[in-house]
Amino acid sequence: MQDVIVIGGSYAGMAAALQLARARRKVLLIDAGQRRNRFASHAHGFLGQDGVPPARIWEQAQAQLLAYPTIGWQSGSALTIRGGKDDFHVDLAEGGSAQGRRILLATGVVDELPDVPGLAERWGQSVFHCPYCHGYELDQGRIGVIATGPMSLHQAQLLPEWGEITLLTNAALQPDTNQRADLDRRGVRIEETPITRISGLADVELADGRVLAFAGLFTATRTRPAGPLAEAIGCDLMETPLGVQIRTDDSKETSVPGIFACGDAARVPHSLSLAVGDGAWAGAQLHRALVWPD
Ligand SMILES: Cc1cc2nc3c(=O)[nH]c(=O)nc-3n(C[C@H](O)[C@H](O)[C@H](O)COP(=O)(O)OP(=O)(O)OC[C@H]3O[C@@H](n4cnc5c(N)ncnc54)[C@H](O)[C@@H]3O)c2cc1C
Repeated sequence: MQDVIVIGGSYAGMAAALQLARARRKVLLIDAGQRRNRFASHAHGFLGQDGVPPARIWEQAQAQLLAYPTIGWQSGSALTIRGGKDDFHVDLAEGGSAQGRRILLATGVVDELPDVPGLAERWGQSVFHCPYCHGYELDQGRIGVIATGPMSLHQAQLLPEWGEITLLTNAALQPDTNQRADLDRRGVRIEETPITRISGLADVELADGRVLAFAGLFTATRTRPAGPLAEAIGCDLMETPLGVQIRTDDSKETSVPGIFACGDAARVPHSLSLAVGDGAWAGAQLHRALVWPD
């Protein structure tokens, strides 16, 4: 019987497990290894790890965590959660199951990318969503914003901090007169010709044959929980401006007693620092829930 089964052994899940490990609690992490930033070669904006490859940050964190004797690790996918508080069972897709008193969902989110040929192949390399993570490296160059909806307006208004901006509306956004005037004041160009595909590093091919070359592209993705686990066990979900996430209270407990959630899956906005902070808080709250069960 584990004190806590953490589903998702990435930044948030490991940060939670670290707090529990230091309280000598028995924790099993189950991880499918599909970290959201696996497409990027370097991570930025994470104190002490700025510019380090994401895999190296993860490996270092995992090694430190596994040094604690009460921590177990299972590579694989959690398929279902059964039971209730103090007696949960997690079944793995690869076979076998684990039993625990509490569950932590640190399962992250998936990005729904716009359906533009050539975009998915460049995701995390020259197409990004977060300017704080990848804007600096574009060196104040020409940046294209590929619209997906209302959040793209916000992105186009913010991004002049990082370069010379063209908003490619691509039939996904129609700025009104006031919004056009605002973008104009910020020096943002608007290009309304539909996009045919992306080629080269970040060259946008338009339906009229023109090709616009950029140092990098941004697009506002919509996010949703990575997998159906939370919904299937009855956790409430909620809409945010960035997509759908698991609803929790301030102690990171979901609407299902004994199941907690943290990281990208259960907060906005998203970053490594915020996921780690959220995970550390969830770990401490889980510990308190074990010390003072109601
Ligand atoms: C392209 C890109 C680049 C980014 N670059 C940066 C950056 O430079 N700096 C920054 O601060 N942020 C960056 N981010 C954001 C950052 O990746 C996330 O905020 C962070 O990964 C969230 O951590 P997490 O632990 O909540 O989720 P994740 O890191 O996504 O991890 C979730 C884990 O849960 C596992 N999992 C899911 N379901 C199951 C299941 N059923 N069973 C077992 N395991 C499961 C997954 O396989 C995965 O390992 C970037 C995001 C993207 C998309």
